[in-house]
Amino acid sequence: AKDGGRATYHFFTPELNRRASDRMWTENNLRRALANNELELFFQPQFAVGGRRLVGAEALVRWRQPDGTLIMPGQFIPVAEDTGLILPLGDWVLGEACRRAAELLRHQDLLIAVNLSAVQMRRPGLADRVAGWLSAYNVPAEALELEVTESVLMDDSELVAETFAQLREMGVQLAIDDFGTGYSSLSYLKRFRVDKLKIDRSFVNELKPNDPDSGAIAEAIISMARSLSMQTLAEGVETEEQFSCLANLGCEQIQGYLLGRPMPYDDFVSFLKAQTGE
Ligand code: C2E
Ligand code: CA
Ligand code: CA
Ligand code: CA
Repeated sequence: AKDGGRATYHFFTPELNRRASDRMWTENNLRRALANNELELFFQPQFAVGGRRLVGAEALVRWRQPDGTLIMPGQFIPVAEDTGLILPLGDWVLGEACRRAAELLRHQDLLIAVNLSAVQMRRPGLADRVAGWLSAYNVPAEALELEVTESVLMDDSELVAETFAQLREMGVQLAIDDFGTGYSSLSYLKRFRVDKLKIDRSFVNELKPNDPDSGAIAEAIISMARSLSMQTLAEGVETEEQFSCLANLGCEQIQGYLLGRPMPYDDFVSFLKAQTGE
């Protein structure tokens, strides 16, 4: 028994140590990264299903190390949320997204989607700060979409409800990210009116052309969205088969590697110009 215990101990320790030291490294360096402008927004195109027309882009943050290595948000966003660094980081993302949106709108009408963490939603003054960036860069509110996850809407604080109402009032678009993965209660959908549901890629992944059951969840989300006058966008679309299943189900927009990966800003501008023949 003693040996077994020790074996378990040896099995887990290196992994735990590695994770703890990764976190510590991230925490120590993220502050510097913010100060030194090492963060960068990538843009992933979003398309209308009909005509495969480019209609928007999701801004996704990357951390570019001084040596050029990219660190993905999965590695530092959770640490930023735990340490409070998500507030300055999220502010930077919103400001930078508005700055880029102003440039992109000179080429084409686009919706620029930005991810918001729950921590940002629960901080007073969000709507005012968003209004500040929009006017600083002269971006119409209608060109900005904010993505939140279901957990934010399960929060029944007055503050979150009020922030939502203010953003809507301004004309900012609101979307629920990773829809269907969070909570079984959907009553919040009536309380918080949002413009769009983003169907999580796990439901897109399981779509199979000759198996109607495979699309049951996506279909239910799409029909519910329609009855609540919300749009639907499917995430993580990687194959033509998935695209046509979603088109048949009546999904309106598509985002995924099939039609475009997240890319650096300059590449996105070239991509956009190639689409429009500019
Ligand atoms: P998310 O908001 O669900 O973003 C979609 C993720 O799926 C992105 O990963 C994107 O690169 C990836 N993706 C897009 N199309 C496909 C596809 O066809 N197949 C597959 N397998 N993946 C696809 P990324 O950029 O690594 O971001 C991961 C998560 O980090 C995001 O998930 C979001 O929750 C968070 N995140 C990213 N940027 C920000 C930000 O600026 N602020 C906050 N708070 N969170 C962010
Ligand atoms: Ca998102
Ligand atoms: Ca998502
Ligand atoms: Ca997510």
